Amino acid sequence: MAILVTGGAGFIGTNFIREWFSTSQEDIINLDKITYAGNFKSLDDIQDKYPVINIKGDIGDRDMVSDILHRYQPRAIIHFAAETHVDKSIEGPSAFIKTNINGTFTLLDTTYQWFQKLSVTDKEKFRFLHISTDEVYGSLAMDAPPFTEDSPFQPNNPYAASKAASDHIVRSYFYTFGLPVITTHCSNNYGPYQFPEKLIPLMIHHAREEKKLPIYGDGLHIRDWVYVTDHCEALRYVLERGQIGETYNIGGNCEKTNLEVVNSLCTILDKICPSSNHKPYSTQISFVPDRMGHDKRYAINTRKIESQLNWHPKHHFTDALEKTVKWFLDRDKIRTIYDR
Ligand code: NAD
Repeated sequence: MAILVTGGAGFIGTNFIREWFSTSQEDIINLDKITYAGNFKSLDDIQDKYPVINIKGDIGDRDMVSDILHRYQPRAIIHFAAETHVDKSIEGPSAFIKTNINGTFTLLDTTYQWFQKLSVTDKEKFRFLHISTDEVYGSLAMDAPPFTEDSPFQPNNPYAASKAASDHIVRSYFYTFGLPVITTHCSNNYGPYQFPEKLIPLMIHHAREEKKLPIYGDGLHIRDWVYVTDHCEALRYVLERGQIGETYNIGGNCEKTNLEVVNSLCTILDKICPSSNHKPYSTQISFVPDRMGHDKRYAINTRKIESQLNWHPKHHFTDALEKTVKWFLDRDKIRTIYDR
């Protein structure tokens, strides 16, 4: 038995694969295009111990996807592969349309062509798990209740819109064709192996380089933060216990402004590696013009996954943030993201 992971050389996919073997010996086939955000080196140290087969390729390559499905006959697909950086989607949305919408469509349709020929038993076992984001729900007012699975989609930037489009296509393959799909909407992840374009690793990197810590606008934009291994565990629960055709929100019940996150990082850095000029790292904070279309607040209601699948986030923000900072301060470890 095998599962096919797409985008397993990126941040969450790498963590998912590493976590997977703590409870399973099942083979993982990892299909990743290795864009600037992906690196198979992040899996190097587990390669000899566990059955991971890395394949460099594009989810939009129908022939390649079809070959992989026929060759490995996966019992599930966990679809992480995407273009993911909102700023990049504002500078140039076309890669987001190509991978997140067209690529997901090709992956899904090729899967459906293969799925139709499976035996009844294999069809019953098969799952297509589509990993999406809370950003598809748009921006919340400060006093509004958190997003539920029934919140309407109101994506406000090209990344969120491309993910929302892919969510709709995935849904249609369940309702029209009966492909057993499940979609998850997760909030902001943090943890090891995140590419240093995203807030937390970027700030750690800048702080250590004695550069400014750029914060958009007034820094009061709110995100819900979940430690990446909690997200990965939730995905395992959804894969094993989730209902096909359903969607599940995943979050850390941990709303923080960007400024709070950066101040927490500075406090941790002051404690574990004080700056050479003995000034608090927070003195490096600088406010820069706001991102276009910047959503003010995201928050996630996790009641459904907690009550139906008995999943709960385990990590406490400050402790898990300190663990993350220590990981990013280890040069050998960050080489697994940077080195080509
Ligand atoms: P990432 O950018 O770190 O990794 C994406 C991976 O996908 C990379 O390894 C890249 O090489 C690969 N990839 C890109 N285009 C591809 C293609 N056409 N074919 C095959 N592989 C391709 O992203 P991430 O943060 O790990 O996010 C993974 C998934 O989780 C995405 O779908 C994202 O929308 C979703 N998500 C992320 C977060 C978060 O906070 N990071 C939160 C919620 C949901």
